[in-house]
Formats: sequence, structure tokens, C-alpha cells
Amino acid sequence: MTQLTDLGVMALRNGVARGDFTAAEVANAFNAAVAEGGALNAFIVTTPDHAAAAAARVDADRAAGKPLGPLAGVPIGMKDLFATRGVQTTAASAILEGFVPPYESTVSQRLWDAGAGMLGKLNLDQFAMGSSNETSHFGNVVSPWRRSDGGETPMSPGGSSGGSSAAIAARLCPAATGTDTGGSIRQPAAFTGICGIKPTYGRCSRWGVVAFASSLDQAGPMARSVEDCAVMLEAMAGFDPKDATSLDEPVPQWSAALDADLRGLKVGVPCEYRREGMDEAIVAVWEQGKAWLRDAGAQLVDISLPHTDYALPAYYIVAPAEASSNLARYDGVRYGLREAPAGVGLQEMYAATRAAGFGDEVKRRILIGTYVLSAGFYDAYYTQAQKVRTLVARDFRNAWAECDVILAPTTPTASFPLGSLSEDPLTMYLNDVFAVPASLAGLPAMSVPGGLNPDGLPLGLQIIGKPLDEQGVLNAGLAIEQRAGFTARPQRWW
Ligand code: GLN
Repeated sequence: MTQLTDLGVMALRNGVARGDFTAAEVANAFNAAVAEGGALNAFIVTTPDHAAAAAARVDADRAAGKPLGPLAGVPIGMKDLFATRGVQTTAASAILEGFVPPYESTVSQRLWDAGAGMLGKLNLDQFAMGSSNETSHFGNVVSPWRRSDGGETPMSPGGSSGGSSAAIAARLCPAATGTDTGGSIRQPAAFTGICGIKPTYGRCSRWGVVAFASSLDQAGPMARSVEDCAVMLEAMAGFDPKDATSLDEPVPQWSAALDADLRGLKVGVPCEYRREGMDEAIVAVWEQGKAWLRDAGAQLVDISLPHTDYALPAYYIVAPAEASSNLARYDGVRYGLREAPAGVGLQEMYAATRAAGFGDEVKRRILIGTYVLSAGFYDAYYTQAQKVRTLVARDFRNAWAECDVILAPTTPTASFPLGSLSEDPLTMYLNDVFAVPASLAGLPAMSVPGGLNPDGLPLGLQIIGKPLDEQGVLNAGLAIEQRAGFTARPQRWW
């Protein structure tokens, strides 16, 4: 018999609406799975009461014949970057440990308004900086996946939304929120065999989301199917006057318009994403993805995105620059940690608080960011990186003359063992080489599972779309999903 925890968002919502099971039964089943999943370290705090209370409201509404929201009866995980009223919000940093926001982020509020409940706050890389979930103050998240002949070697669930990806792949929750600044939804989705979409920059409000790099940060859903992502995104997206970069655009009913018939669609294949010495399994899944889209009726065209090689270096100037500015607010004065040994002055209190509160990777980003913004180097680094960003965005604009969506791998490799890259930040940063260009250009992009590599680890295919064309991205994702028939799941060891 299928367990409730094996069901996705749509199946749960429809089952609750039909009365096949109650929202309370669903919440209980997932709360139990979360409680048993401790070895994954996917959650920083669990909130079983929040999930149960939301479910009770849904069951009462249904009994009273009231209309149910689009996510009624669906308990989800919330990345611990979203402020949640009355529930500790840390960005996985010691500097925010114990911070309980008196307000709710717009995105999480929208999800609760749609009827969802919260299973807990999901672990992540500290301040969303990382690609492996090894920079959290609360310990590494462990992927539920293991290599087929790799024994018990703990693998990375990707990052920064690695608590989200691990929890969804392990069936601790049917869906979760993620955020993507330079790949943090897509790369962890690829590493764990699930779907995730970063919408167009501005679709989801950043209000109440702990800021990393504000011109890049974008929230999005992660789930096990394209349709589940679509229905989650419908709830999350929408204009918010409290975010100055929020897009004042209607939110389409993407899930209702899903269509895997791609006849007439042109799919661009960027030659620059074919890198020297690329993993053969990645090349193979990309070829497979092209064949699937052709089979769905699309026409494949070779395109060029000539500034691709410069995107990652530009990202690692722009993102740290914005981070160094955004993270200046953590000074021990208004909230979070304060280190004030007796007798020290204000400056020493700032320094001691920041030295104790920020992790090494966060400090590295602040140092880089402060350096590239400093008077003597601003033009050489920051201004130059902004120019490169414009060129990367122009590459995509030119490409849209020839194609409607772009197909690429999500990552250059599959997941790797925890600890194997943490001493080598440059190799770690390379994880996002295929993800970062769409981030710099603000474009919608999604990862869908393409298959397993010879070690039995998932690989993702990435679809990048035109501004506001989430529908095109989701439709191409659906065409791949239908053909990939990805049913692999991690063997339970936790
Ligand atoms: N891994 C990238 C970084 O460390 C992207 C992170 C993200 O998208 N939040 O910056």
C-alpha cells in the first residue's frame, strides 16, 4: 500500500479534498517521518504543532463545507531563511541563533493562506552561502542517497537548500521552499533526484527572507514533480509592495496550463556549456534530454552564449559585494548574538560578535565583498563585474531570437562525499557554473531529474526560459519528466 508520505502535493491536496484521508492523518504521517529522519539533519527545528494546527483548520473547514485553499492539507518544509512569526529563524548561523521574528515572510504567509502547514525549519548553508550544506552552524545535512558501491560514505545533498532537497527526497515532506541566488534551488534538486524551479527575479517577494545578495536572491519551490512545483509556485508568487523589486505581474495558473506537447518549440543548446573534461555521465544525460525534447516535438538548435566563462567570476564578485553590505546589520545591537565581554567598547563588541557569530565561509564572502567594494578596487572589480553581468544577460537576449527555452545540465558533476571539497573553495564554487548565468540574468530556470549516474546517484537537467516564461520552462520540464520516468528513490538507512 502506498504510504501517505509517498504522496506528492497534488495527490495529498486532492485526497484531502475528496475525503480519502484527513489533513490530520497527513500531518501525523509527515510529523512522524520528520521525527524519524533525524540522522539526515535536514531540520534545524521541527514544528509538529504548526502542521497539526493547519491540518485541523483544513479538516474543520471541509466539515463545514467551506472552500479549501489550493494547498489545503499539504504540510511542507520551510527553508530557515524565511522569517516565521514565533518560530526561530537563523539562516543556519550562530549570529541569529535564538532569533524569533515577530513577523512572517510574505512567501511563507502566502503558503499558509493557501492551506499549507509547516513541518519545521530546514537546514541550509549558512546565509545560503555554499553548495554542499557544510557551512551550517547546525551541522551538515546528509543526503539520503548513497553511492551504490560507496558503503556508508555520507554524501552531500547540495546547497544551499540542502535541508529542503534531503527532506523531500527522503519523503520527510512532499515539498519545501528554497531560495536560489546562484543555483541553490537547482543544484540541490539535481543532487537528490527532485524538481526545483527558480522563477523570474521578482516573481516571489524577498520580504522577510534573510538577504544574501539582493539583486540575485529569489525564492522558489522544490518538490518531486513538475506539477507539484507549479502549484507551489502559484501560491508563493505575486506582487508585494513591501519588496521594491517585486514584479507587479499577474500570477498565471501554471499547473492548469501544463502541456508537454512541444511541437513548434525551439530548444537552444549552448555550445559553451560543453566543457573540457566534463563528466561523461553528464554529457550522456544531456544528450538524452535533447532526444526526449525532440521526441516531444521540439526542434533543437545550437546556440552560443559567448560570455558564459565569465559568469562565475562575476557572480563571485557581485554576490559577496552585496553580502558584505547586507550582513553589516548583524552587529550585536538589535538582534541575535551579542559578545560583549566586560569592559569592552562598542567597536570591540561589534568585532567580537561578528568574529564569534559568522562561520568561515560567511567571513570569506564578507572579506571578498568588502575588498571589491573598497575605494581603490571598486572599478577594477565591482564595476567590471557589473559590466560582465550585463553582457551575460545580453547573451541570453540574443539567444531568444533563435530559441524559446535552453537545455543544459544543472551541474557539472553528481553529488560528492561530504568533506571532499570543503578545503577547496574554488572547486566548490564550480558546482554552480551552469546555474549562475541564469541567476545573473534574472531568468526562470528549473532542474528536473534526468537519470542516475553509474554510481547510482541522480543527475539533473536544467531548462532556462525567457523572462516571465515559467510556463515554457515547466512545460519542457514536464516533457522530460514524462520520458525520464524517474522513479528511483534512496534506500532508507536513516
Ligand atoms: N553555491 C552558490 C554560493 O555559494 C549559490 C548559493 C545560493 O544560490 N544561495 O554562493
